[in-house]
Amino acid sequence: MSDYRMETKCVQGGYTPKNGEPRQIPIIQSTTFKYASSEEMGKLFDLEASGYFYSRLQNPTCDYVAAKICEMEGGTAAMLTSSGQAANFYAIFNIATCGDHVVACSTIYGGTYNLFSVTMKKMGVEFTFVTPNCTDEELEAAFQPNTKAVFGETIANPALTVLDIERFANAAHAHGVPLVIDNTFATPVNCRPFEWGADIVTHSTTKYLDGHGAGVGGCIVDSGKFDWQKNAEKFPGLCTPDHSYHGITYVEKFGQGGAFITKATAQLMRDFGSAQSPQTAFLLNLGLESLHVRVPRHCENALAVAKFLKENEKVSWVVYPGLEGDPFYETAKKYMPNGTCGVVSFGVKGGRETAEKFMDSLKLASVATHVADARTCCLHPASATHRQMSEDELIAAGISGDLVRFSCGLENAQDLIEDIAQALESIK
Ligand code: PLP
Repeated sequence: MSDYRMETKCVQGGYTPKNGEPRQIPIIQSTTFKYASSEEMGKLFDLEASGYFYSRLQNPTCDYVAAKICEMEGGTAAMLTSSGQAANFYAIFNIATCGDHVVACSTIYGGTYNLFSVTMKKMGVEFTFVTPNCTDEELEAAFQPNTKAVFGETIANPALTVLDIERFANAAHAHGVPLVIDNTFATPVNCRPFEWGADIVTHSTTKYLDGHGAGVGGCIVDSGKFDWQKNAEKFPGLCTPDHSYHGITYVEKFGQGGAFITKATAQLMRDFGSAQSPQTAFLLNLGLESLHVRVPRHCENALAVAKFLKENEKVSWVVYPGLEGDPFYETAKKYMPNGTCGVVSFGVKGGRETAEKFMDSLKLASVATHVADARTCCLHPASATHRQMSEDELIAAGISGDLVRFSCGLENAQDLIEDIAQALESIK
């Protein structure tokens, strides 16, 4: 499939049925797989043979769908996870453990920020946060001898800053570490971070990839481009024998293109078990089949909404990287010339209380802890997804108290604008 274009990969990537096999990706709803002898089974456990034995580690339905996302991102290997949180946790913990350090962008999703700054900190991994528009000196100063990765979001949720992927990739590579990009908001339809130097891509597939609010899930894709062995002393987990797998050295056995995902599957999925269910993977694939049709429509609706908001006197500010004049417009044009995402962030004059009143007055757009699906929804991050953050952390994350995150669905743009107009009108 690698020579086909995105549209074809969305529809047919990952699974090519042979004669007489199901046309649609089959749901292999089985925890276990049968083998004729203990010896054959043993080889699977030793990673000496490939095959399925237990769906916590791997399941054919999940693998077909992971292979499709892998093709869409242009990677060499991929795995599904039970959520975007699990994907980001695995992607970082696969290379950074107790005593290690990671440089991360401060404008990232609140759940990821909490995962890094609270939970992974308890596990002994330290993070230094930098703003996406920090100076080169500030970025450089964030690195330490024990830094193992750099992490950012293509388009940050909900600050909507756009990461200068090339700049961050160059900085990461100069320190011999990979750049991990959460590409949830842009999707591979609008941006393929590997083409700009990123090494690992993660997704909350719960968002646009599924696109219908049907299933929570995540995905990790490896570009296969990062040379772990060149910096072997930094990545002992990949470059030295794994005693829990009879002394296998992942980079030697599975090569640069397969080591990262094989290790994440064999160790992290085995031990933490955040597996996606085959049913969810099936639903995710239905979403993927129309991703290339849906994403441009989300972007068109969001641009129309952003333009309307920009002109409205009850709105104090609007950020949308696809809107001319936005601080990240030029960066967005470079990395996402065909469109950015369907999410618009803005402030309603009068602050937090007025923002909440505005949201309560919406009729079409529902208040939901969700983003990026077919139905328009909105959220007040400071009192929901980012509630745990201090005022200072909120500012660093680009979230003001009056910020409304408005996720444009696939409805008619004019209907969305009229709904917003009547809700703004209802504010005295
Ligand atoms: N990454 C981004 C950019 C997100 O927006 C989210 C959730 O909103 C996540 C990761 C976490 O994903 P999930 O909710 O699927 O665990």
